[in-house]
Amino acid sequence: MNDQAIAHFLALEAKRQNDGIELIASENYPSRSVREAQGSILTAKYAEGYPHRRYYGGCEVVDAVEDLAIERAKKLFSCAYANVQPHSGSQANAAAYHALLQPGEKVLSLVLNDGGHLTHGSPVSFSSATYDFVFYPLNANGHLDLAIISRWLDQENPRLFLAGYSAYPYAIDFQGMREVIDSHNKHSQVPCLFMVDMAHIAGIVAAGLCQNPLKYADIVTSTTHKTLRGPRGGLILSNRLDLAKKIDSAVFPYTQGGPLEHVIAAKAIAFQEDLSSAFVTYMKQVLINTKACNDELVRRGRIVSGTDNHLFLLNVLDSYGLTGKEAQQSLELIGITTNKNMIHGDRLKPNETSGLRIGFAAATTRGCNQEEAIRIADLIDDCLSKAKPFETLTKEVHAIASSWKDVMTLDFPIEE
Ligand SMILES: *Cc1c(COP(=O)(O)O)cnc(C)c1O
Repeated sequence: MNDQAIAHFLALEAKRQNDGIELIASENYPSRSVREAQGSILTAKYAEGYPHRRYYGGCEVVDAVEDLAIERAKKLFSCAYANVQPHSGSQANAAAYHALLQPGEKVLSLVLNDGGHLTHGSPVSFSSATYDFVFYPLNANGHLDLAIISRWLDQENPRLFLAGYSAYPYAIDFQGMREVIDSHNKHSQVPCLFMVDMAHIAGIVAAGLCQNPLKYADIVTSTTHKTLRGPRGGLILSNRLDLAKKIDSAVFPYTQGGPLEHVIAAKAIAFQEDLSSAFVTYMKQVLINTKACNDELVRRGRIVSGTDNHLFLLNVLDSYGLTGKEAQQSLELIGITTNKNMIHGDRLKPNETSGLRIGFAAATTRGCNQEEAIRIADLIDDCLSKAKPFETLTKEVHAIASSWKDVMTLDFPIEE
């Protein structure tokens, strides 16, 4: 690399990633193959449009690449349609809304502090300016509740019901949601559509370890860089071929210009990796590790959400008298990266919070096993309760992290 300044920072970041324990639930480490495709010469190619109907010449090769990415995405999620062009999860959501809604139409989405995403109607996101968002709550136990959803559907008569979250630790009953929407639609004047944003749990869906929303939703959006372990990007899927044209034109030309064919090549590789039995084994281990860490904190008397997926929430305010912000900063000092997060019924502001979100997708990719997940719970607890000096804890974190795989050389099997 010619640029010494950037080369220096790349080396520093690789070291930071290798030295620490990454527990941010939305992160993961892609394979070297994925990163090679992302850094490839395909970045030089303009390909506005879709395979075999582009606005530029010279697209034969990128057509084949994008066709392969689409085919693999459809196979991975058992669906009839895939658009692999969205640059990010947020852009996938913008396009999905545009494909289904007129500006001003009503969307029923989860109360944002209970685990929604900014694009699900936050005042600081385009979504709230363009559409009329109303919000359903979780029940008193912090769980999704079909009776509450049914009541809100009848009260609000939305055009779209939105499920899929950034910090919801429990299983989601997509089938139950479909049934509630269907029975609402029987007597509603505004037929309600069903959208799922599976950005966080897409890898669990791909591995067949939870309900597949594609069996029930009209449209499904996702990121490709979280549990799916691909390049940073977005994805839109559906089983409704009648929506295909609308979704395609909502991505290009409505929300985006030329597609990132180098990233689409990387997505194709990640989808193929995700189709392997090794990926299912990996995802099972993610669930085991997450639960083991959650349960060890329970054993030590701390207040946690419990978990059915790759993440859980630790109530640091009631467990340690710390805000989420303070807890995040303390853990960072010993080399454990997490993020502060609102918890159900949180009384603190989003920049303080009472909770911490902890996930095991990234650590498990590097080789974290169940015993280490339990040790990590102990390290977190010893750090936040100030039971041991930070230097001792930092050394232990370092010892665990350096026994794991190097993030620069990770690669995963592909089964043809
Ligand atoms: C992460 C996330 C997104 C957005 O992804 P970006 O690629 O960061 O835009 C959208 N929805 C949910 C539920 C997410 O968790």
